[in-house]
Amino acid sequence: MVEAFAVASGKGGTGKTTSTLALGMALADRYDVTVIDADTGMANMLFHTGLDDADVTLHDLLVEGRGAAVGDAVYERFGLSVVPCGTSLDAFEAADPARLRDVVAELAADTDVLLLDSPAALGSKSAVLPVVLADRVVVVLQPTIPSLSDGLKVQEYARSYGTETAGVLFNRVRPDEDVERVAEQAAQYFGGTTLAAVPESDAVRAARREGKPLLEHAPADPAADAFREAAASLEVRS
Ligand code: ADP
Ligand code: MG
Repeated sequence: MVEAFAVASGKGGTGKTTSTLALGMALADRYDVTVIDADTGMANMLFHTGLDDADVTLHDLLVEGRGAAVGDAVYERFGLSVVPCGTSLDAFEAADPARLRDVVAELAADTDVLLLDSPAALGSKSAVLPVVLADRVVVVLQPTIPSLSDGLKVQEYARSYGTETAGVLFNRVRPDEDVERVAEQAAQYFGGTTLAAVPESDAVRAARREGKPLLEHAPADPAADAFREAAASLEVRS
């Protein structure tokens, strides 16, 4: 059985792509993991995985008539099956978001855990479908009240489509921030779990510059430890 997670947030730049890859690598010890860049308008997983020049991407599966097979867009990297998405605006506009459903179904037949790196803004079909297709959603937030408010909206939206929250992952936490207090507020707001608090870390930025996920570039970094803790807290049901 496969379990699919959407990694989502209210706003962009919270660390969804970083988190998707880190959670994926942390889970890859025990499971076959596939990560998909379903943020088809603001795709950037290719830059985190050294796949900048990938020939076939998710866009080729979503644009009708391109004739690509799902397997053509799957790249084995860092112990993960990675499905990157291209950055062309034309391809994004030509893509039929509804085709993601079939792509996900085909990938699901061949993996234990699917992680869908999801778009930030809710509302459009391309933005909501990853959350709809997932079993549970990981909400990536900063430890601030405005960010919690965004996260609550993500949770409500996901719930309206029958997708439960797996937990909140606080990212880019600075040493002066009171995560415990925010986590308590998150428990009140979300009635759910804080998966981990990932510190702000130079290693995260350095990894991206190298075109590698954090857990490949700096597995001993405290941020990597926090992502492994989050992955363990997910209690995957595959
Ligand atoms: P999103 O996919 O939500 O837009 P990314 O994962 O691409 O976000 O992260 C946005 C930027 O923030 C990237 O430059 C990334 O390197 C940086 N970043 C993410 N998490 C951290 C962190 N814990 N510490 C430092 N920089 C981070
Ligand atoms: Mg991203």
